[in-house]
Amino acid sequence: MTKPKVAILGLGIMGSGMAKRLLDAGFPLRVYNRNREKCDPFVAAGAHAATTPREAASRAEIVISMVANDEASRDVWIGEDGALSGASANSLLIESSTLTKEWIHELAAKAAERHCRFLDAPVTGTKPHAASGELVFLVGGSDDAVAAARPVLSVLGRETIHLGPVGSGALMKLVNNFVCGVQAASLAEALWLINAGQLDRTKALSILTGGAPGSGIVKRVAERVSTNDYTPNFALRWMAKDLSYAIKEASGEELSLQTASAALKVFQQALANGRGDEDFSAVTKL
Ligand code: NAP
Repeated sequence: MTKPKVAILGLGIMGSGMAKRLLDAGFPLRVYNRNREKCDPFVAAGAHAATTPREAASRAEIVISMVANDEASRDVWIGEDGALSGASANSLLIESSTLTKEWIHELAAKAAERHCRFLDAPVTGTKPHAASGELVFLVGGSDDAVAAARPVLSVLGRETIHLGPVGSGALMKLVNNFVCGVQAASLAEALWLINAGQLDRTKALSILTGGAPGSGIVKRVAERVSTNDYTPNFALRWMAKDLSYAIKEASGEELSLQTASAALKVFQQALANGRGDEDFSAVTKL
């Protein structure tokens, strides 16, 4: 069966792994990235580099966006020469970035005006999972659109979970990441107390990771602390973004996420200390 033509908008840590997977699986691929140089290795591997999101979308049957935040998503979809202006009717538009539900609904409405199908499909998993096709897609949208997306999402991920209508994937992703952010911030504070009380850090981390607090995220952050390696798999500034989006989402439901608000303060302190481009685990640095 002929593979659909796919366009990827955004070749950052996650988008680049996803683009590589699609090329390796033989999908005809167009790539767009704001900083053009990031396209070069993909062109060498057989992709076509588009100069605008509009050009990328214009010949694609499926367009996937994987960019930083709401502003970046607005830019690639509806900015100057945005992808929506080039997308053909009945093409399938998939927004995989972690974004607010508010923007996702606005984008879905604009996609419907263009007679395009739309899914919000943010992911869990990080750099190695994007590179090896082991992401988990948290999806909102119609059954038909999810069915049309599956052949591509199954190359990029190990699971596609359809959570409900448009916006459901975005909300679940914010819930997921606020719980991760809270645990990372709490481990950061624990480490500061361990240091201040002059406990042995290696023993303390072993107790925490081997005991009841040893969740996946606590283990992942503890590993970074032990190896003192903060090369980003997931940048600290995006964890702060996700906490702030979760807080905003909850306030729209008249809920106050008190643990997320406290965690955001810890992340904002790390941002003020210039750690935004490091891995989110750098929130633990003294
Ligand atoms: P990243 O490496 O920082 O890449 C960000 C991408 O967004 C780059 O392609 C960047 O282009 C583009 N971008 C930023 N602002 C833009 C704008 N105004 N207009 C057009 N493009 C813009 O981030 P990432 O780690 O790949 O994350 C991408 C998304 O996935 C985020 O929403 C993040 O929260 C989410 N996510 C990340 C992970 C992870 O572990 N990394 C896991 C799950 C979900 P330039 O190259 O030109 O700057």
